[in-house]
Amino acid sequence: MAYRANGRRQSEPIDDQLKVLLVEDSRTYALALSRRLEAELRLPIVVCQSLNELHEVVTENRAAYTMAVVDLNLPDAPHGEAIDFTVQRGIPTIVHTASYDLDTRNRIMERDVIDYVPKDSAFTLETVVATARRALANRQTRILVVDDVSATRKLLAHMLKVQQYQVIEASSGDQALSLLQNDPDIRLVVSDYYMPDLDGYELTRRIRRQFASDRLRVIGVSSSSDRMVSVGFLKAGANDFISMPFIPEELQCRIASNVETLEQLVQLHSLASRDALTGLFNRRHFFANAGRLIEDAQAKKRKSAVAILDIDDFKQLNDSHGHDFGDQALASVARCLAQSIEGSGHLLARIGGEEFAILFPGLDAKAAMRISDHIRLDISHETLLVDDQQVTLTVSIGVAEIDAASRFDQHLIAADRALYVAKREGRNRVRLAE
Ligand code: GH3
Ligand code: MG
Ligand code: MG
Repeated sequence: MAYRANGRRQSEPIDDQLKVLLVEDSRTYALALSRRLEAELRLPIVVCQSLNELHEVVTENRAAYTMAVVDLNLPDAPHGEAIDFTVQRGIPTIVHTASYDLDTRNRIMERDVIDYVPKDSAFTLETVVATARRALANRQTRILVVDDVSATRKLLAHMLKVQQYQVIEASSGDQALSLLQNDPDIRLVVSDYYMPDLDGYELTRRIRRQFASDRLRVIGVSSSSDRMVSVGFLKAGANDFISMPFIPEELQCRIASNVETLEQLVQLHSLASRDALTGLFNRRHFFANAGRLIEDAQAKKRKSAVAILDIDDFKQLNDSHGHDFGDQALASVARCLAQSIEGSGHLLARIGGEEFAILFPGLDAKAAMRISDHIRLDISHETLLVDDQQVTLTVSIGVAEIDAASRFDQHLIAADRALYVAKREGRNRVRLAE
C-alpha cells in the first residue's frame, strides 16, 4: 500500500505542496531514504513499493509530483518499467539500482533521467539526496545554449532541461550577446565553436569583456577531433570544454561543477562583504562602493550625503549586562537600521564596533538630516529585553553633504566631527557638519 513516509494515515488528505515520489520495494531502504529526503528537501515523500502502486498514486494526481526516485528493478517491473512510467508522465526521475554494469547504465541512460545512483556503497543515500537537491536547485539556474545548427542546439538544450536547468537558445553569437545584455539571470553559456558569424572563441572573448567568470561561466563545445579547439576556448576565457558527441554524465558533471563554483563564489563574495554579527555590509564593502554611487549621483547633477551613527554609552551597556547582551543589542540596532533604509538605494554598513554609516546617494544635507532623525527616533523607541528588564538604546548621528566623490574622505571626517558635537551636546541627537 502506498504510504506517506512521515507516517500519516493514508486517509488523511495530502496537502497541495509538491511531493517527491520514492519507488522502492525494500521497506527498510525506503524508510531510511525517505527520512533523509524529507529532512533535506523539506518536501513530503510518497513511497510506492511496486509499479502497481505507482500507477494508482500517479493516476490519482499526476501534477502533485515534482520529482521521482525510482528503483530500476521491482518485483512487478523487472526491466525498468517504473522508470518508463514516471519519465513518460514528465516526472523528473532519478534512478537507483542494485545491479550496476555498463549494460545497465546504457539501459538507464537511453531514457531521459536526471541521473542514476548505484546502491553499492555506504554513501548511496547521501548521493541520492545530493542528486535530488542539485536537480531542484538547477531549476533556478539559467543556461544559454549557442549553436547555429538547430539539431545539435536542440539536443543539448534537451539534455540540460532533463537536468532541470532553465534553458535559452541562441542561433548565433550576436543573438547570444544581445540575450546576455537583456537577461542578467543567465549564469552559464554553452557555445559551439564553428558558427558562421562569430565563432565560439570570438564570442567568448566578447563575453569576457563584459562579464567576469565569477558572474558568468562559459563552456565551449565542439565535435572537432582537433584537440587545439579546447585550447582556443580556454585561452579566450572559457571555463571548460566538452567534446561532442556528449557523454551525458560528463556534460552533467562539468555543468554542475561550474554552477557549483558560481554558488561558492557568491557565498565568498557575501562573506567578504558582510559583517558576521549583524549581517550588514562591512567597512570594506562600504568604502569599495561609496565612490561609484556618489559618482553616479554626480553624473545626474545631484549631491549626496553621508551619516555616521554611534550607539550612546554602549560600553556601559556591555559592563552592566554582559558582552553577549551587547552583541544582541548591536544586532537589534542593525535590524532597525536595515528596516529603515530597506529598498531606498541608500548604502548601510557597520564600519566599526558600535559604529554604522549610511551613504545617501543623490540626497542633499537637508533630506539626509530628516531621514537620520527618523532613524534616531526609531531606535530610541526600540526596547530590548534582558532578564525581563527593558533596555532602550539611543544613537548620535553626524551628517555631512558630499559635493564630489574625490573629496569623500574629507566629508567623512566632517561627519565624524559632527557626530562628536552631537555626543558633546548630550547624545541622542543629529548634527550637521559645518
Ligand atoms: P559614546 O556614547 O561616547 O559613544 O560612549 P560608548 O561607551 O558608546 O563609546 P566607547 O567608544 O567608549 O565604547 C564603545 C564600546 O563598544 C566599547 C566596546 O567594548 C564596545 N564594542 C565594540 N564592538 C563590540 C561588539 O562587537 N560587541 C559588543 N558587545 N561590544 C562591542
Ligand atoms: Mg564608538
Ligand atoms: Mg558609542
